[in-house]
Amino acid sequence: MLHVARKTNTDASRSEKSRLEEAIALTAAIGLEVAHGLIASIAKPTPATLIGTGKVQEIKALCADLEPEVVIVNAALTPVQQRNLERAWSSKVLDRTALILEIFGERAHTREGRLQVELAHLTYQRSRLVRSWTHLERQRGGFGFLGGPGETQIETDRRLIGERIAKIKGELEEVKRTRSLHRRARKRVPYPIVALVGYTNAGKSTLFNRLTSAEVLAKDMLFATLDPTMRGLKLPSGRRIILSDTVGFIADLPTQLVAAFRATLEEVLEADLILHVRDLAHEESDAQKADVVKILKELGIDEDERIIVEVLNKIDLLESDVRQSLLSRNRAKDAMQTGESVAVSALTSEGLESLLKLLDRLLGSREQTLRLSLTPDDGAGLAWAHANGRVLERRSTEKGTYLVIAADPPTIEKFTARFGRQIKIVEEDQPRRAISS
Ligand code: GDP
Ligand code: MG
Repeated sequence: MLHVARKTNTDASRSEKSRLEEAIALTAAIGLEVAHGLIASIAKPTPATLIGTGKVQEIKALCADLEPEVVIVNAALTPVQQRNLERAWSSKVLDRTALILEIFGERAHTREGRLQVELAHLTYQRSRLVRSWTHLERQRGGFGFLGGPGETQIETDRRLIGERIAKIKGELEEVKRTRSLHRRARKRVPYPIVALVGYTNAGKSTLFNRLTSAEVLAKDMLFATLDPTMRGLKLPSGRRIILSDTVGFIADLPTQLVAAFRATLEEVLEADLILHVRDLAHEESDAQKADVVKILKELGIDEDERIIVEVLNKIDLLESDVRQSLLSRNRAKDAMQTGESVAVSALTSEGLESLLKLLDRLLGSREQTLRLSLTPDDGAGLAWAHANGRVLERRSTEKGTYLVIAADPPTIEKFTARFGRQIKIVEEDQPRRAISS
């Protein structure tokens, strides 16, 4: 992993080291292990290789030693630079745009997401073809008679890519028209979905693994069919949730990838609750928060309709008195059952108990109690109710089975659709949702 830092870079606010760290986290997100990370400072880009000859040689020696599968350059490379570096290092080379595209490709779950990512991919490829074509032409001295085989091939490729792009754009229009239908159809999981959002490196995946590692729900058929970025988790009350890890926000996202990025966040739109994970120790923590809130708003995620919890992560990196005061605030909020933010360390597990309690309380506050009466012969109905709701009580007589079920709004809708008048919603006098922090 090579991060290329511009010495002339005026945006000194994000330190180059944290940019390298971000790139390493992105690489880890596609399951690659980073064997070595380094920074190259350049005053002026070298046209042929971007970085200077000395650095190219240094990395050549590293490659001979480490034999990496791929060298990732955290910068935009021209096609020529990419090819030259591949030759120099005898290794595959990816640039930043390609790396991010790779991640999006793995993470886009919806049809719209896949189409957006493919569109970005093809546009990227086409720009490569255009540039290498002019490059070839220049090499040949630009002679004019009917193009050679290379040129024809590239023109054909370009035409094919152009056709595919047009087709995808058409499909995207179609998907957008029917989007809400798809969303409703996908929402079949019987447990609330909790989505992790936040900047890359905030600690989303660490938190995801920490919270779900003790779980053995993988045997459960349901979870076996989910992708690895979704895992089941049991809260202290016994309530089950599905935790969903996301790609996260990326500093300096290449503009041609914005649409694809949004598409990978589509699953967040379906979440019942959103955990906004923040790196409290980051020098730009507040600016990052503002970015995330802005993008969520642009995605149409409304704080009034959705529960958003702020997870203030990495408190282990703070001064001990600050950390202690955050933790005692957690405890005060636990006791008073208030607040929608919680301080944690995904690394040391401090504060995680408070986080789980908070989730329990917020999700519980959306629940109502249902009573369901089933006839004695309705075994299918009974099985369905157990699979789709959290059964609190079950009583059987010769007249039938009575169930008491805790259900959140979408579950109530499903039960009503399935059982109609056999369902009774029990009014409760406890408040629906405790607010204020
Ligand atoms: P993501 O990009 O949001 O998924 O972030 P990761 O979970 O990949 O974490 C990014 C980096 O932050 C990794 O090096 C983690 O080890 C580190 N990290 C995550 N949580 C904590 C934490 O609570 N404390 C500290 N000190 N480091 C953390
Ligand atoms: Mg991650």
